Amino acid sequence: MRRTGPFRIGGRHIRLPLFLPDGTMGVVRNLDAADLQAVGTEAVVVNTYHLMSTPGSEVLKSAGGLKRLMGFEGLVVSDSGGWQCFSLIHRAGSHGKITDAGVVFRLGGGKNKLFTPEISVRAQFDIGSDVLVCLDDFTDPAAGERRLRESVDRTTLWARKSRNVFDRILEERSESGGPRPLLLAVIQGGFDREARKRSAAELVELGFDGYGFGGYIVENGRINLDLSAYIAELIPRDKIGFALGFGRPWDIAALWEMGWEMFDCTLPTRDARHKRLYAFRNDPRGLSLAALKDPGSYEYLYLRREKHAKDFDPISRHCDCPACARYSRSYLFHLFDIGDGLALRLATLHNLRTYQLLIERLRTLGAASSSAGKRE
Ligand SMILES: [Zn+2]
Repeated sequence: MRRTGPFRIGGRHIRLPLFLPDGTMGVVRNLDAADLQAVGTEAVVVNTYHLMSTPGSEVLKSAGGLKRLMGFEGLVVSDSGGWQCFSLIHRAGSHGKITDAGVVFRLGGGKNKLFTPEISVRAQFDIGSDVLVCLDDFTDPAAGERRLRESVDRTTLWARKSRNVFDRILEERSESGGPRPLLLAVIQGGFDREARKRSAAELVELGFDGYGFGGYIVENGRINLDLSAYIAELIPRDKIGFALGFGRPWDIAALWEMGWEMFDCTLPTRDARHKRLYAFRNDPRGLSLAALKDPGSYEYLYLRREKHAKDFDPISRHCDCPACARYSRSYLFHLFDIGDGLALRLATLHNLRTYQLLIERLRTLGAASSSAGKRE
């Protein structure tokens, strides 16, 4: 069941779905803002926790926000840092602890650093984000019942704190502070449906502009689509559904059909840096939703000397990115071979354009189905 959009974000109407490339440190690696525009990227996701370390809130505030610093005219969505807390504390163990107040990082030499839901929201305002995300207590989805309960309880508590400070900052802000950003909360509860239901109900009662759910509900290398559909149904239809950290192209198509409309993933940019290029087997402008959900509709191209050193075709016949418009596989292979940075830029441009072609096809299919619905 798809939601009603378009949504007003950052002062303009935004068509959904949206794919957000990974711009963790305030850059989509190897690309600048003009490159992002060239492949149709409308929004990026950045990481609050990392940007607080460098360049830091003072620089970001002085610059007038990250978008000015990046020269980027699209939307900035900031992830709260919940995932980093999970990685640093739960996985690595000895780096600190999580309490109801927030996350305490041990820095060594007896020094601690506190990261709270309130600090995260303030930092996201300093970044100048269009969409803020509440800090959540992420946990291993297969964690035991007690830990899942704690994760849901704490996520609700932190969402309430985030909401309070968000409202207070908006009140304090002058009229010239720009369009009101959106605030999203993250549904926790692992693989446990009852826990997910309770988490969603508590967060919906607090009232947010949208709701996310974390990746990692992966079993045997595949996303649990039944659970993803179940969680999508827990979200009010007029709110945004953000599937955090998903993305293989066919998963995006399946999740979109359920009602998820924002996606962020490191895959296309990271794979590009490892010479793994995505392509549609057929022209995406003619593909049905069933075809877009089928992994068989996509192929990977791994650049290899024996296959591509003399291959003068573009990366993909179905792509109109700057790399495919002008260069061959042979040239791209050569650039990787000599270790020139241009290889990373061209490969990243191509993979992001492939994702954008998918997004554009989903929008066309969504518009067609909603106008068919109106005619009925
Ligand atoms: Zn291309």
